[in-house]
Amino acid sequence: MKILILGAGATGLGAARRLADAGHSDWELWEQDGIPGGLSRSITDEHGFVWDIGGHVLFSHYRTFDDLLDKALGEGGWIDHERESWIRILGTWVPYPFQYNIHRLPPAERLRCLKGLLAVIGANGGPPANFEELLRRSFGAGIADLFMLPYNFKVWAWPPRELSTGWIGERVALPDLDKIAESIVLNKDNVSWGPNNKFRFPSRGGTGAIWRAVASQLPPGRIHYNRRVAKIDAKRRIVTAETGEQASYDALISTIPLDALVNRSEGLESLREPAGKLRYSSVHIAGVGLTGKPPAELANKCWMYFPEPNCPFYRVTVFSNYSPNNVPDISKYWSLMAEVSESPAKPVDAASVEETVIQGLLNAGLIEDRSQVRHVWRRRIEHGYPTPALGRDEALHRILPELEELGIYSRGRFGAWKYEVANQDHCYMQGVEVANRLLNGSPELTIWFPSIVNQMHPVYGKDWL
Ligand SMILES: Cc1cc2nc3c(=O)[nH]c(=O)nc-3n(C[C@H](O)[C@H](O)[C@H](O)COP(=O)(O)OP(=O)(O)OC[C@H]3O[C@@H](n4cnc5c(N)ncnc54)[C@H](O)[C@@H]3O)c2cc1C
Repeated sequence: MKILILGAGATGLGAARRLADAGHSDWELWEQDGIPGGLSRSITDEHGFVWDIGGHVLFSHYRTFDDLLDKALGEGGWIDHERESWIRILGTWVPYPFQYNIHRLPPAERLRCLKGLLAVIGANGGPPANFEELLRRSFGAGIADLFMLPYNFKVWAWPPRELSTGWIGERVALPDLDKIAESIVLNKDNVSWGPNNKFRFPSRGGTGAIWRAVASQLPPGRIHYNRRVAKIDAKRRIVTAETGEQASYDALISTIPLDALVNRSEGLESLREPAGKLRYSSVHIAGVGLTGKPPAELANKCWMYFPEPNCPFYRVTVFSNYSPNNVPDISKYWSLMAEVSESPAKPVDAASVEETVIQGLLNAGLIEDRSQVRHVWRRRIEHGYPTPALGRDEALHRILPELEELGIYSRGRFGAWKYEVANQDHCYMQGVEVANRLLNGSPELTIWFPSIVNQMHPVYGKDWL
């Protein structure tokens, strides 16, 4: 079987790795960029500062992925971190997750949040129709209005009432009243919730170092860089690059955005209507190189969330805390990486991002003075977040099976368009699993059963796949 893979991100490299390990020899991979990694690539700017495409934190639901990471960079290749994640609100810092740490709020807001929670205890109105309803019903009006709704609009760039609820799984900590009561009465921080409370980061080269290593460990000559797909003839199974090269295939593993795949293909015209219903948001990354040292308040923080309108970003990462090698000389510099979302429902003036980010850093108290800013590195990513919008699953359930009948397997963050399985570990495994399916017919788990792969195994913890 001749297998063509499109895209050298986590998904494409997962498929390639599996095919190579299985000794399958008839495959090749086309990538439009000059380097591997896709959205998980890293860039060193002209001043020697390293940037990721937004804050990337590694966490794994799969032993196969842990093994890959161990092998990719070796033992000395990593720096271990304890998560220090915070929310900046009302001029104070609240540890993540917000709902377990409302004791940190000023008294009036603390009371408002508590009253809202008490009002929804025991309320039962059937399944929520959308994400906003879920947030209001689960957390009450106080937490919803103060943090959940403004923050979620800022990050998704679409109103929460237009999002579905099936994706949340481990992504949103639903309230545990015991924990909340404990934090308020004992004035105690609850910080260890969630799947990524410990994480590791490459000591050199940013997150992209992982994928450069993974790509370099594949058999030589199979990955064709700077080869951008211009056209796919889905009926004749032929792909044409912008530079004119052509390849035929028996099976096509595509990791390029699903809407682009459908729009670029001959023979898939009937899928353009459902593909047009898939929503996404774009992301502006502003990497701010700074002189001096971070203030004491930021010395141990990893990343921070910003629900308020006094700054354009939803998240800022203290990127020089992840590795001292993310800046050219840690005794002289430090760095912050801000992310600003954009969609038709939340337009952004690209020309003003740099200025609004710097002003936002001043407003939020992350920097004291503009003179600290050495330079700003900027990048806009068209496809940033695959929105779990209402109607998404109906569209996917029409598109993906029809593609498979034509030998096209669309997988990955924007290939499968499922945010709940769109991190690096999920994407890598989507690639591995689809390769396994083509090799020996074994069923794919990650793309079709997100709630299973995202659960901890009751006996073995996460190390079960
Ligand atoms: C802002 C942001 C934050 C994130 N945070 C995290 C995090 O904290 N933890 C985590 O694990 N993951 C995170 N991710 C997700 C992570 O980056 C993705 O899981 C992963 O990169 C997706 O891999 P992929 O291979 O499916 O897609 P991509 O990385 O998008 O790879 C697709 C590849 O296809 C190529 N391509 C596209 N069109 C064509 C064409 N026409 N011809 C040829 N090639 C083409 C692209 O260049 C790209 O290399 C984040 C992503 C973003 C955007």
